[in-house]
Amino acid sequence: MSEAAAPVRTLDALIVGAGFAGLYQLLRLRRAGFTAQVIEAGDNVGGTWYWNRYPGARCDIESLEYQYGFDEALPHEWQWSERYATQPEILRYINWVADRFDLRKDVRFETRVTSAHFNEATNRWLVTTDRGDAYSAKFCVMATGCLSAARVPDFKGLDSYKGEWYHTGEWPHEGVDFTGKTVGVIGTGSSAIQSIPLIAAQAKHLTVFQRTANFSVPAHNGPIDEEYKAKILQDYTAFRRAARASQGGVVRAPAEKSALEATPEERQREFEIRWEIGGFAIGGAFIDLAINEEANATAAEFVRSKIRQTVKDPATAELLCPRDYPFATKRLCVDTGYFETFNRDNVSLVDVKNNPVAEITTTGLKLQDGTAYDFDAIVFATGFDAMTGALSKIDIQGRGGLKLNEKWEHGPRTYLGLQAAGFPNLFTITGPGSPSVLSNMIVSIEQHVDWITDCLEYLRDHETATIEATTRAEDEWVDHVNTVASFTLYPKANSWYLGANVPGKPRVFMPYIGGVGNYAQKCDQVAKDGYEGFALDAKEPVSAR
Ligand code: FAD
Ligand code: NAP
Repeated sequence: MSEAAAPVRTLDALIVGAGFAGLYQLLRLRRAGFTAQVIEAGDNVGGTWYWNRYPGARCDIESLEYQYGFDEALPHEWQWSERYATQPEILRYINWVADRFDLRKDVRFETRVTSAHFNEATNRWLVTTDRGDAYSAKFCVMATGCLSAARVPDFKGLDSYKGEWYHTGEWPHEGVDFTGKTVGVIGTGSSAIQSIPLIAAQAKHLTVFQRTANFSVPAHNGPIDEEYKAKILQDYTAFRRAARASQGGVVRAPAEKSALEATPEERQREFEIRWEIGGFAIGGAFIDLAINEEANATAAEFVRSKIRQTVKDPATAELLCPRDYPFATKRLCVDTGYFETFNRDNVSLVDVKNNPVAEITTTGLKLQDGTAYDFDAIVFATGFDAMTGALSKIDIQGRGGLKLNEKWEHGPRTYLGLQAAGFPNLFTITGPGSPSVLSNMIVSIEQHVDWITDCLEYLRDHETATIEATTRAEDEWVDHVNTVASFTLYPKANSWYLGANVPGKPRVFMPYIGGVGNYAQKCDQVAKDGYEGFALDAKEPVSAR
């Protein structure tokens, strides 16, 4: 249907995506008296937790922190069954929240936004979908997710493969039974590391194709510590305020000591304590792990020693030992029995670092040296076109027909990860240039949604037609994001934070590593200063609708 022919629905705000971000944005805007509509590609709410239904999927931030914090009643009423909730449980939670606030009535499901064009005459966004809908919205909020564009590498021959194949990020809703099957898993990132132990337990034989060995730490999952829970529930709002003021959106006592100042015995003791706590605790053992190579190497060697202790075959253990990048400069993986899985007789590990997967054949796959493998099923745990992928699939055009994809040709440019110059009244939740994926994302999502909602209320109160990041503020922010990243070891890893997993994607460090607390403070200050760094156009156009 052409844009002109489509029935145009008029709204204050159009929100794309019904994950944690889009749903909370809907609720806040509704409560603030704006008309808002969510468009979601899936047939229900949940975003990440709707799509990633692979075996073993669960959060790596503890459930008591990986939940909404905006309503003090929610954490009291919802009972998490485990320290790290599974995907089905998180999906049930987000459905419960959607029911509680009657959110679904304003979500259009099974509909994909295909374009968003800014009309300078009306100061409105014309948004169209693959169903032929058209919306005219004053504001457009992209809650499209940082890890929602699943990516299968461009392997030759995939179309000819006669077996079953799956991507972890687009897993069938009915589940997959691997019983009695020969299975190949490509990838050893977080999704692979969570799913491999469960697939191995079912499959006749599992072959894991590893390009880069990754650092993984045990979750030590189990029941919730009731004493700890009772303590934080005494004032959950204050707990979340502390999370928003923290480095990573989780409440932890900050490290105080340098790894290099500690004696080898002290270091070992500290790493052991944190290994036993499980999860990301080890990353906060010392103040210099993320910034000093020598300090970092001590943590890297500690994890390698654990792998060697766990994996019985010494050659396999060495292959699983990460050496290609500093510890935790790619997302640290949190596992349950990952390394132990390689002690099973039905599991083999294949190194594809120097002998890559060359093609998918009709019966399996072939490596560059001609070695062939046959599989009943192949699992692509190959990740996402992260941070910009979902946005790049939408034809977004701002002032003067400026295309976002062209503006971001050499890497994303934003002010605060919230707006891009040239795209008035368009906001990105957890966009590139904000802490987003380097944090407990629910905390970052809520911080962005709160800021955006306050901003829209301000514009309404001040009869202001548009808000737009200035090029100057954007340039300064991009410089700052890069400078802060350059003080750390993160740019040394070929990570998706840098777009390194997508051939041809510009190598730019996309998230802001300066910390959730510092960042939130900056956002608050900008708002207090009358949206400093943004251009506000006080003229409401005559034909605003
Ligand atoms: P999403 O949940 O990604 O939702 C975006 C939605 O937008 C999707 O439903 C998508 O269908 C929709 N959409 C996108 N484009 C369009 C379009 N053009 N038209 C219509 N709809 C569209 N973070 C943590 O902090 N802790 C964790 O433990 C954690 N675990 C994770 C585990 C997995 C397997 C993955 C993949 C990510 C994990 N993350 C984790 C990150 C996670 O993505 C965020 O925590 C959070 O769920 C993101 O919510 P969101 O609403 O911003 O985006
Ligand atoms: P990922 O971290 O990007 O891992 C993708 C894996 O596929 C990597 O091992 C990569 O190898 C490999 N790969 C990609 N292309 C390949 C090719 N052509 N040949 C061989 N190997 C190839 O993706 P992910 O595991 O889906 O995780 C993405 C992010 O989602 C995580 O970092 C995390 O933020 C989030 N997540 C969290 C959890 C959790 O624990 N809660 C679980 C899943 C995902 P290289 O490393 O060599 O590129």
